[in-house]
Formats: sequence, structure tokens, C-alpha cells
Amino acid sequence: MPFQVTIKPSGHQFQMEAGETLLESAAREGFTLRHSCRNGACGSCKGKILEGQVDYGQYQANALSESEKQAGMALFCTATPLSDVMIECKEVGAARDIPIKTMPCRVQTMLRLAPDVMELHLKLPANERLEFLAGQYIDILLKDGKRRSFSLANAPNDDAFLQLHVRHVPGGLFTDTVFGQMEEKTILRFDGPHGSFYLRDDSDKPILFMAGGTGFAPIKSMLEQAFQTHSKRQMVLYWGAHSLKDLYMGQLAGQWQETHPNFTFIPVLSEPQPEDHWPGRTGLVHQAILDDFDTLEGFQVYACGAPQMVEAGRSAFLARGLPEEAFFADAFTFSPG
Ligand SMILES: Cc1cc2nc3c(=O)[nH]c(=O)nc-3n(C[C@H](O)[C@H](O)[C@H](O)COP(=O)(O)OP(=O)(O)OC[C@H]3O[C@@H](n4cnc5c(N)ncnc54)[C@H](O)[C@@H]3O)c2cc1C
Repeated sequence: MPFQVTIKPSGHQFQMEAGETLLESAAREGFTLRHSCRNGACGSCKGKILEGQVDYGQYQANALSESEKQAGMALFCTATPLSDVMIECKEVGAARDIPIKTMPCRVQTMLRLAPDVMELHLKLPANERLEFLAGQYIDILLKDGKRRSFSLANAPNDDAFLQLHVRHVPGGLFTDTVFGQMEEKTILRFDGPHGSFYLRDDSDKPILFMAGGTGFAPIKSMLEQAFQTHSKRQMVLYWGAHSLKDLYMGQLAGQWQETHPNFTFIPVLSEPQPEDHWPGRTGLVHQAILDDFDTLEGFQVYACGAPQMVEAGRSAFLARGLPEEAFFADAFTFSPG
């Protein structure tokens, strides 16, 4: 069973995954702990273990003295829990300031956007709002502690309803219900926001967005926020889908291109159908980006969709000169249970 970590004083909680340090798993959950070298040499990530045991990992003696260790300190870039732990440290970055809430919501509208994509509009209880960063996701809470992650497709300040784009996974516990029995007015429970895939606005580098299928959802949120805030950054959206019907909001992206001179939309179909009469780009979406840019050195890339697409893009883009810290991604991995 994975160990649970509680950060004090914030009260943030998350679960460890095998082989991760405290720093890595906190970052995966969107909580940035203060750090620098990440290999036990500098001591920047030092904090206190209030409860529980850790394996201290490999570190340099000058970064953590024996007396500090006796006093309960550890380096979070090398320490891995041996039990549930409660740690005390400062968090940095935007995501940490946002409280994670558990809330009921009502399915206000259900709209079939494509044969296997449903848009859900979720209404929150009166006077409730969900604070989140463009690109983050929520977990729908099912019976028996099961949870299913879905990205928020609306911009944060356009939050009368939360918008989800749900792709049908045949045989899937939750999405079978969405495409089967679910009706408008159904009550769901969720918690969130989660994740560190959010738009960084502390850079003016041009952005390449790479979406696969419903990976468009968080990117829609980011783009709508960028448009609302009159961002001057150059932005290109490469959206990969099988065939034309799967580009379920292609028209909207086309309209953005017409109204925002700093935005370009490049749809890429991997299996265009004869009836599509597709005049546009074909193939794999990450390959289209590689075909268009000799170097990615000066860019930021935000990628979202199937894990294989995200990973193929990541390794190819880094080889094309994209700095590692300029690649942000959410891979639509499956839930464990
Ligand atoms: C951070 C994050 C954000 C996400 N955001 C979105 C989103 O905005 N829109 C969206 O459509 N999906 C999104 N996903 C994927 C989504 O969470 C899963 O597709 C969903 O959990 C499936 O739930 P289920 O109960 O229907 O299927 P399950 O009962 O979990 O799975 C049934 C079977 O299908 C397989 N399976 C599960 N998910 C997938 C999948 N995605 N593709 C192929 N096979 C699968 C499982 O291995 C299992 O064999 C996101 C995932 C993550 C991690």
C-alpha cells in the first residue's frame, strides 16, 4: 500500500509512488517544495520529519549533519518514506496556495461532442467556487475509494460551470456510466484541483501546445485564459486526432486563429477517412512539430494526451534542443483501481 504524506503547515496530502523521493512525489502532485541540487548536496530541501520513518538515501555529510538528523531533519530530495509521514517545510509556487476541496456537483448538461467524447457541465453548490489554475484536473470520486481524473476544460475565471471532456473507454467503470445510464441532474462528488500541468505566465517564450484527443481539454483552459489576459506570446496548437470527427472542437480552435493574430491552429489527423476529404496535415502529432521546427531551444512545450504520445514528444523534443524545464505535460494514465 502506498504511504501517505502530510505536509505541515499547509495540510496538503498525497500518496507516494514506488521509487520516488518526497520531493519528486510532492512535485508530481503539484506541490513544489523548496529545493535546488536534487541530489543531496546543497541542503536547500532540508525539512523536519514530524511523524513516521524515512530512508534518508544518499547525501553529502555537509548537507545534513548527524545532529540535524538526530533533531528530526531530512533532505527531501533523497528521503523516501518507510511509513506514512508528516513533514514540515515551506512550499513554493502557485499550485500550493490553492486549497484542495471535496465537493458535490450536479451534472447540468451533457453534450455529445464526438461519437466517443461527452462534454459535462458540472454545477457547484450555491455560493461555492473552485479555485484552480488553467490546466489542472479534478478527481471524480466513485464508490469504494476509486477515483477517476479529468482535466478542467474551462478557464479558471469562467467558472459558472466546470467543464469536462470525457472520452469513452469501452468497459471503463466510470466512462461506461457517462455514455450509458448517466442523465442530466446526476449528483457526483469530486476533489481538486490537482496537478502541476498549468500555464506558467512568468515567461514570454513562444508556446507549442501538443494535444492528443481529449488532451485538448486542459489546453483549451490554458488558451482561453491566455486570450482573456491578452497574452502577447506566440502560441501554436498542434491537435492530433484519428479522423475529422475526433477533432471535436476544431471549429472553435479555427475561430481563435481568426481572432487572435498570435495564435495558430494546426490539426493533424493520423487516420483521415475518405469522407473527411482532408486537405491538412497527416501523421503523428509530435512528428508534425518536428517537421516544422529545426530547433526547439527557445520554446516552451505543453503536451497532454495518451502517455505514449507525451513520451514520444518529450524525448524527441529534448533531442531537438528543448530544455527539460521547458517541457510540461499531463499524461492520461489509467487509474490503478
Ligand atoms: C491527470 C489526468 C487527467 C485526465 N484528464 C482526462 C480528460 O480530460 N479527459 C479524458 O477523456 N480522460 C482524461 N484522463 C484519463 C481518464 O482518467 C481515464 O480515461 C478514466 O479514468 C477512465 O475511467 P473508467 O472508469 O471509464 O475506466 P477504468 O475502469 O479505469 O478502465 C477500464 C479499462 O480501460 C483501460 N483504460 C482506462 N483508461 C484508459 C484510457 N484513457 N485509454 C485507454 N484505455 C484505458 C484500463 O486499463 C482498464 O483495462 C485523465 C487522466 C489523468 C491521469
